[in-house]
Amino acid sequence: SLYLDYCASTPLHPRAFQTLMDSSKLYYANPSSMHEMGFEASLRVEESREQIARLLQVKATEVIFTSGATESNNLAIIGVVRAWMKRTGRNPHIILSEIEHSSVYQCGKQLAKEGVEVSFLPVNRQGIVSPVSVKESLQANTILVSVMHVNNETGAVQPIAEIGELVKPMPHVLFHVDGVQGFGKLPVELDYIDLYTVSGHKIGGPKGIGLLIAKEHIEMDPLLYGGEQELGIRPGTTNVPAVLSLAEAIAAAFEEQQKKFKHLMALHDLVYSRLAGISELVMNSPQPPLSSPHILNFSYQGRGITSAMMIRMLAKQGIIVSSQSACSSKAKQSRVLMAMTQDEMISSSSIRLSFNETVTLEEAGYLVASVEQMVCQLKSKNKFDLL
Ligand code: PMP
Repeated sequence: SLYLDYCASTPLHPRAFQTLMDSSKLYYANPSSMHEMGFEASLRVEESREQIARLLQVKATEVIFTSGATESNNLAIIGVVRAWMKRTGRNPHIILSEIEHSSVYQCGKQLAKEGVEVSFLPVNRQGIVSPVSVKESLQANTILVSVMHVNNETGAVQPIAEIGELVKPMPHVLFHVDGVQGFGKLPVELDYIDLYTVSGHKIGGPKGIGLLIAKEHIEMDPLLYGGEQELGIRPGTTNVPAVLSLAEAIAAAFEEQQKKFKHLMALHDLVYSRLAGISELVMNSPQPPLSSPHILNFSYQGRGITSAMMIRMLAKQGIIVSSQSACSSKAKQSRVLMAMTQDEMISSSSIRLSFNETVTLEEAGYLVASVEQMVCQLKSKNKFDLL
C-alpha cells in the first residue's frame, strides 16, 4: 500500500534506527547513576544535547528533552503561565491561534477555566494568522504568544518571523512556536523565538521523545515533580536511546533538507495541479511558499460525503491518508477548516495527504488517478442519493 500520512508519523530514518538499536544495547544504565556506566550514558546524552544545540544555534542548556511535542507544548505554555502567576499573584493574558494543534489549543482552553485571559486569533481563508491581529490583541498583561510554524492539517506557513519581530521589543511577552511540522522541512531562525517545540517521530526519530528549546531567560514551572533531570524542569529517567536516536534523526534531517525539499516540491506541484483541476474538489492548502510542500489538504463539495467515507474508498485502492490531525481524528469536523471557511460541508469532507521523500512521482500519479476515480464514484452516488 501507499502510505501518505507522514504528517501523523514517519518511519525511523535508517541512521536513527541504527542508533536506537546500538544505544539500547550499550547504554542501558541510568544516566543519573554515579557509576562508570551511568556516567558513560550521561556523557552520550550531553553530546547529543550539544550536537542539537549546535544545529539549532542555541545553547546546550536551552535544550530540554521531553516525551514529545504534546509535553513540550504543555510545558511551554502552562509552565510559563504558572511561574508568572506564582511570582505576581495576578492573572495573565496569553494569545494563541484558532488553528493550533490540540496540544496547544487545549492548554489555552484549560488555562481559561483557571482564570487566565486567553485570546484565540482567527485566520484568513488560506489558514494564515495575521501579524496585525497579534498586535491588536496585545494587552498590558500579555505574557505569551503561541503561533505554530506550519499547520499540521493544511501545511499553511504562519508568519512567525513577522510575529517574532513584533514581539521582540517587548521583553515581558514570550513567543512560543510549535515547530513540529516545519522542523526539518523549512528553514527556521530561533533568534526571535523564546520557546520552540520539536517532535521526534515526525522527522524520522522515535516516538515518545521531543524537545523544548527554552531560552535561558525564561522562568518556567515544571509540570511534573521528581528528580533533578533536565535542569530540574523535567524529572524522570532520561530515555537515553531515544535521545541519541533523535539527535541522529535531526542531523540527517538537516543534511538532507534541501534535497528533500526539491523532491517534495515536485510531488506537490504534480498533485496540486491535477487535483485543483477537479471541479468537485476545493483545495484547502495554499500554494508554496504559503504552504509547506509536504502537506496537501482538499475537500469534496457535495452533500453527505464525509472524510471517513473517502478514507475508506482510498484505502480500497491501497492509499493510506487521513482527514485531520490523528490526535483529533474522532471529531466529525475539522476545527482548523472551520476557522478558515466557517463551512460545515468543507470541514467534514476533507482529506489530508502528507508526503515524505520516499514517495515517487509515479506513486503521486497513481494517487491522482485514484482520487479521480473516487470523485467519479462519489458523483454518481450523489446523483443516486438525490433521486
Ligand atoms: N504539534 C503539531 C503541529 C503536531 O502535528 C503534533 C502531532 N500530531 C503534535 C504537536 C504532537 O506531537 P507528539 O505526538 O510528539 O506529542
